[in-house]
Amino acid sequence: MEVLLRDVSKVFPGGTVAVDTVSLHVRPGELVVLLGPSGCGKTTLLRMVAGLELPTAGQVTLDGRPARTVAYSGRDVAMVFQELALYRHMSVAENIGFPLRWAGFDDAARHEKVLEVASALGIGELLGRRPSQLSGGQRQRVAMGRALVRNPRLFLMDEPLSDLDTQLRTELRTEIVDLVKDLGATCVYVTHDQTEALTMADRVAILRRGVLQDLGKPTDVYTRPATLYVAGFLGQPRMNLIEATVVVSLDQHVALRMGAQELRLPWLHMQARMLARYHGERIAVGFRPEALTPVPPDTTDNVLHGRVLYLEHHGHESLAFLDVGATAVTIDETGYGDPGTNRGRSRGVRGMLARLSGRGGRPAAA
Ligand code: ATP
Repeated sequence: MEVLLRDVSKVFPGGTVAVDTVSLHVRPGELVVLLGPSGCGKTTLLRMVAGLELPTAGQVTLDGRPARTVAYSGRDVAMVFQELALYRHMSVAENIGFPLRWAGFDDAARHEKVLEVASALGIGELLGRRPSQLSGGQRQRVAMGRALVRNPRLFLMDEPLSDLDTQLRTELRTEIVDLVKDLGATCVYVTHDQTEALTMADRVAILRRGVLQDLGKPTDVYTRPATLYVAGFLGQPRMNLIEATVVVSLDQHVALRMGAQELRLPWLHMQARMLARYHGERIAVGFRPEALTPVPPDTTDNVLHGRVLYLEHHGHESLAFLDVGATAVTIDETGYGDPGTNRGRSRGVRGMLARLSGRGGRPAAA
């Protein structure tokens, strides 16, 4: 099913602008994740797609028809929310099969369909139990089963995994993608969890204060964020963003002046010519922690000098927080020996822009 939002806004009584002129085209069979911090308008947007909320301005259509008409009239749209409204007095089988009663399936056909969905979700053994006899993850699967059993053409999911522990979330997110794709259904999925968004989505839509900031494939929004907000929002740890003045020097260098120090890029450096266009301007330079590499202190080109403020060990990686004069930056020290021995030493840091084109953000005027 195709979902089309055209200049959609939602202003609640009292004046809260929950969604501000959002246009979005979700293609048939596509899984689009709405990502953003709490209160950015994700749920409101999803509710408008579900026809549960009417836009103040703009249109939402599903296969060319108004969302409200489609959601109310047919069995094509299924919703899964964080709050699972399972019927407590019904068994798992009855809960999953519930939507089929209304669709006129007889007992045998219903039973067959329930079995098929339950075994796909790995809850075939639990069909006789009541919701109170299930774990949180199992209850979540039952809710998913109830949505899947109707073979909907559009899934609308609002933080369906947020109450689960990390391991279950990881398992279920791949299962959800597989099930939705197997059905060939379209899916709009809301989350504030960027790992979930980046791993599940065909395309991610990033919202801030009701405004669509960026829309694209996970790798594209990560490597080439459209706005400074997205650059700083995506990635854990976050991208370093430093203000700098660009100076094209006569000795074949482009320099980025950041506070007391200067990052010098040889003219042959792949980013130097692009930066030269900003000569004399103040820009924001973005680079991810993993794009920085420690180098010997006497290195001259393409180097930022910083003093280690503190180190954080995360098991699989160690992060160093450095004061580089202009600001503090974070560097991922994975693979560079024991960072503990470097405590308090002045460090040279290479690679800042060497990998910027592939892994950092494009510079933007500050
Ligand atoms: P969360 O991740 O916390 O669920 P969200 O991104 O889904 O947040 P929404 O629930 O869409 O955000 O809310 C967007 C804004 O609209 C918020 O400022 C919220 O307080 C406001 N809002 C939501 N529903 C209503 C309502 N019925 N009446 C008034 N304001 C509302």
